[in-house]
Amino acid sequence: MNYEVVIIGGGAAGLSAGLMLTRARRSVFVVDGAEPRNKPAPHMHNYLSRDGLSPLELLKHGRAEVEGYGGEIVNDDVRAVSRTDGGFSVELSGRVVTAQRLLFATGMVDEVPDNLRERWGRDVFGCPYCHGYEVRDQKLVVFGEEMKVALVRQWSADVAHVPSVDGIEVEDDRLVAVISGSDRVPADALVYSAPVKPRDELLLALGAETVETMAGPFVRTDDKGRTSVPGVYAAGNVTDPTAIVIVAAAQGAQAAGMINMDLLGLVPGA
Ligand SMILES: Cc1cc2nc3c(=O)[nH]c(=O)nc-3n(C[C@H](O)[C@H](O)[C@H](O)COP(=O)(O)OP(=O)(O)OC[C@H]3O[C@@H](n4cnc5c(N)ncnc54)[C@H](O)[C@@H]3O)c2cc1C
Repeated sequence: MNYEVVIIGGGAAGLSAGLMLTRARRSVFVVDGAEPRNKPAPHMHNYLSRDGLSPLELLKHGRAEVEGYGGEIVNDDVRAVSRTDGGFSVELSGRVVTAQRLLFATGMVDEVPDNLRERWGRDVFGCPYCHGYEVRDQKLVVFGEEMKVALVRQWSADVAHVPSVDGIEVEDDRLVAVISGSDRVPADALVYSAPVKPRDELLLALGAETVETMAGPFVRTDDKGRTSVPGVYAAGNVTDPTAIVIVAAAQGAQAAGMINMDLLGLVPGA
């Protein structure tokens, strides 16, 4: 099957692009591994008009909107991508499709230690803008980056910093951070910036260039989502580690507009 646009990743960035492109009457195929980064969190914040909605509920609505305009969405992982004459070949499990343009909206992974994973996105989190208000004025423990203490104090005056945490226990329904095997610091929530890794293997295999960011090398795009590889676009956390959901969605829409102009042959140098 040949599509005008194949979107790899159906989180906020990918679905937002899908909505704009299907409404522009493009044939769109979205392949989604269905593992959005904020899946562990029960609520999503800072998305104007949808503050507090569950992250999965947002994507359910987004999928329905894209499908309502004729977009196809499948749950699958793209295994490989290669250039063909005039486009790209996209390999899913047991099936290959072709595309004239590609948008990568594959997000990034938080490398959360196993001992914190169960509470990640709940009372252990990295983004105070996303979760801080819910634990305002409570006892917060920041571990790792000390510079984050000043930021977290905006939400509570009761903030402690510890360099690392060996594990977490729960006593009387309250978190206890265990430090160096014996020291114990009770907390209502822990703030921890996990290292992040973009899901960019397929983009790099196509030859996309990267740029150094505070979170390490990320695929470089212009402000319309164009990568260094003609016909290949990227939006959301795969290219921008700071993009919250509404920003990822906006980047998807920006890329969609540019992809549409590119398909019309109206982008100089594309
Ligand atoms: C715990 C937590 C809570 C957060 N809470 C908030 C919040 O409250 N508000 C907020 O604004 N931001 C929040 N964020 C940030 C938010 O998760 C990101 O802004 C958002 O997920 C970025 O959207 P995206 O579309 O770029 O990537 P994602 O949402 O991560 O979507 C990427 C999609 O691509 C798929 N994919 C990856 N590789 C492939 C492949 N090879 N083939 C097919 N599909 C693939 C994945 O399975 C996934 O479904 C939170 C982050 C975390 C970690």
